[in-house]
Amino acid sequence: MASTDWKLTFGARAADLPSTPYVGRHFIDGKWRDSGDSQTMARRSPAHDALVGQYAKGTADDARDAVVAARQAFDDGRWSRLSGKQRHDYLCQVAERIERDHETIAVQEVLESGKPITQARAEVSGAAALWRYAATLAWNVRGDSYNALGDDMLGLVMREPIGVVSIITPWNFPFIIAAQKLPFALAAGCTVALKPSELTSGTTVMLAGLLDEVGLPDGVVNVVLGEGDPVGAVLTHSDDVDMVSFTGSTQVGKEAVAASAGTLKKVSLELGGKNPQVIFPDADLEAAADAVVFGVYFNGGQCCNSSSRLLVHRDIAEEFTQRVVELSRQVPFGDPLDSQARVGAIISEAHERKIQGYVEQAVTQGATLRLGGRALQAPNGEGRYFEPTVVSGVSPDMEIARDEVFGPVLSALTFDTLDEAISITNDCLYGLSAGIWSRSIDNCLAYARRARAGTVWVNTWMDGYPELPFGGFKQSGLGRELGHFGLDEFTEQKTVQLHMGARTNWWVPQA
Ligand code: NAD
Repeated sequence: MASTDWKLTFGARAADLPSTPYVGRHFIDGKWRDSGDSQTMARRSPAHDALVGQYAKGTADDARDAVVAARQAFDDGRWSRLSGKQRHDYLCQVAERIERDHETIAVQEVLESGKPITQARAEVSGAAALWRYAATLAWNVRGDSYNALGDDMLGLVMREPIGVVSIITPWNFPFIIAAQKLPFALAAGCTVALKPSELTSGTTVMLAGLLDEVGLPDGVVNVVLGEGDPVGAVLTHSDDVDMVSFTGSTQVGKEAVAASAGTLKKVSLELGGKNPQVIFPDADLEAAADAVVFGVYFNGGQCCNSSSRLLVHRDIAEEFTQRVVELSRQVPFGDPLDSQARVGAIISEAHERKIQGYVEQAVTQGATLRLGGRALQAPNGEGRYFEPTVVSGVSPDMEIARDEVFGPVLSALTFDTLDEAISITNDCLYGLSAGIWSRSIDNCLAYARRARAGTVWVNTWMDGYPELPFGGFKQSGLGRELGHFGLDEFTEQKTVQLHMGARTNWWVPQA
């Protein structure tokens, strides 16, 4: 496929690149500091190969200091014993400042992750909304009462903050994923040690700056920068941590579970996905084709919710796949700082090679490359991109149909019956999300009930609301984020039994 077919939006964006990199340090116990050994790590933008970030690279001791600060802040009650209103007010102030610094945060997110600027702006707005929503939950930490246990007994079920939470986030949505976790943990009364991905530290440091600015008590949120080993490992192993809230790959999620076994701390996990969109002939096929293109190319396919599997009914398979190919060819990709771009850069060279490997392997196994399939560089030789790619004739046993490719690559499979579509959907390690397109309520409901996935979209794709819980079945995760369920994850339940009046003795001594 000649690359001249593509809608490329590479422009000379040099004027938009920062002349000096953003510099970030750890924020521990209310103070900004360098790493104990003074090491730093650099981040170059995947789209321009420019130096855009320079960060402290944490040691195990830095991570331990972050946990100790969170432990002290939790144990002395400086946060957990505030009223819901007080916590609510802090969270709202953070939301206001996110809105104030909206553009600065969005640009840094683009520079480090390679995602398109229009998308980054939407994510920063979404994050502010999550902080506001979680603030309302701080008013609503509540339990249950049992008033029919007999005349002399009242039962109370109280929710208390679980304690110190380690939050570990990935590179693909650094700012909004932190907002799916941190304000919910804070609303519940927890204290936090937070580690962003070493590839995208910048916007989390900016967030720490906002927490500092609103005067959050010292030690309530501690941000420690650095790699999985040693920083992430300390945050998952430490005896002083009560819960780990992790978003990232299924492989590292399993390591977090193993690390937590030593202290049996709670672990909540948001992991990978291999999400299908199922298309029936009676659907609104234009809307479905647009949703398939959106679902697979959003964030360059580097998205846990990527709809990387297209399951299309055999009767319309050729015509529908061709429509998707045509739309894919028109998707503008290129410099993520250009507001025309819908698909930006690929996070790293190693990741680009992995994507290419899956496509080549599928072709070797007999699949047909309908579009794309190659890594690309910008005309000026800078930056890493991958062509929007459609592979058809994929069978359910091929790696490209089973593994999380995590790139702009669509695998098209066919089915004949609803049962077969459900069976292919569920024949998968993952169970994060799934979608169905049909005008038949019977098809839609049967699919929604039988798909083994945490979210099922019906005649739509990837809508999200702060009120609705999000999470995965099977190896896509444990627990749920968002909604009041998201608050509950950061709490323990305590049962209190209150006895009134004289108690009947268990044993009465004989005179
Ligand atoms: P990753 O698992 O490589 O890294 C995630 C985080 O874990 C990073 O901060 C990393 O430094 C840290 N880490 C690495 N090794 C560690 C260890 N041994 N102990 C503790 N922490 C460690 O994932 P990634 O490449 O950054 O992100 C992509 C993955 O995230 C994909 O699989 C994607 O599906 C998943 N993801 C899931 C969701 C969801 O909500 N389900 C959302 C976004 C991303």
